[in-house]
Amino acid sequence: MSIFEDKGVNTTSIESLGEFGLIDHLTNGIITKNSSTVKGIGDDAAVIDMGDKYQLVSTDLLVEGVHFDLSYMPLKHLGYKAVAINVSDICAMNGDAKQITLGLALSNRYTVEALEELYDGIKLACEHYGVDLVGGDTTSSTSGLMISVTVLGEVDKNKITYRSGAKVNDLIVCTGDLGAAYLGLQILNREKEMFKENPTIQPDLTGNDYVLRRQLKPEAAIKYTRILKELDIVPTSMIDISDGLSSEALHLSKSSEVGITLHEDKIPVDYTAMNLANEFNMNPIFCALSGGEDYELLFTIGQEHYEKLKKDPDFTIVGFVTDKSEGNNFIANDGSSHPLTAQGWDAMKNS
Ligand code: ADP
Ligand code: MG
Repeated sequence: MSIFEDKGVNTTSIESLGEFGLIDHLTNGIITKNSSTVKGIGDDAAVIDMGDKYQLVSTDLLVEGVHFDLSYMPLKHLGYKAVAINVSDICAMNGDAKQITLGLALSNRYTVEALEELYDGIKLACEHYGVDLVGGDTTSSTSGLMISVTVLGEVDKNKITYRSGAKVNDLIVCTGDLGAAYLGLQILNREKEMFKENPTIQPDLTGNDYVLRRQLKPEAAIKYTRILKELDIVPTSMIDISDGLSSEALHLSKSSEVGITLHEDKIPVDYTAMNLANEFNMNPIFCALSGGEDYELLFTIGQEHYEKLKKDPDFTIVGFVTDKSEGNNFIANDGSSHPLTAQGWDAMKNS
């Protein structure tokens, strides 16, 4: 008898499900058993009842060649980013990150000095976000570097924000500005291609400091969750913007069972990013909607909080919540309405 069980012919490709479809498919039927598990799969972090507070847990994995390219990503920045993007998921629950554990898979291509550099970035981020590195695992890899970070955080029970609490007529707010991280990546890719063609040419990165910083050294939105606390605002729903505004808005809409309408003229794009998008012949709003890696927050608030937030330019009201029956819509600058899709909006194909 073969020790390998014949499982028959299994031919379903991962692409046919997509990332979120695959997670849904694999985790379908999982029912949590412990009364301390308040929220399992499906939000930015899992939520665990610790008695007086909730504990938050989230994992993010970065893979060489998929999430980062070491030909332009300094290892110190990579270490910083690995921590920052995990802290971002705790911010999305309105919590404070406290500890991380760190899993590393390394190929023998890496020197001790290189790994020290990676850890310089990790330590710097831990310092900046007030997080303790409390453990992890180290192993070898046959194909490049993989960094898996698990972050633990906490939040007062009455301050927690899920993706699921948005109410009809709430305002949709985003922090900072969007699209710059994606444009930073375009610059780095362009310079890499030029360097490959002619290695004597030094990369020209002048004047692009802001977009490069947004790509290479993203920050979790701790300053914004602090402001919300000071203003005594608890969002009705919240998510961090890792995949682009439209995809995150659709997550809020699905989890909250509401419709979302976004207004093109409200979407905040930094002016240097705007100029750069034009240089690349890209629509800057497309970069904001579909670019990703900005790590800003997208949240909904009751209208009673409008006065408190409107004075602060770091917060932009980008739309409002409607009944689910109205669907998810994008109102373009010319006033026309389009269905909002994960890639942006339908008119994007022509722009
Ligand atoms: P985020 O972009 O906020 O990091 P993801 O889109 O990666 O969130 O994940 C969505 C949800 O699915 C999260 O609750 C996450 O914990 C869960 N998840 C992702 N991958 C897996 C997996 N392989 N097994 C179980 N749960 C997963
Ligand atoms: Mg997230």
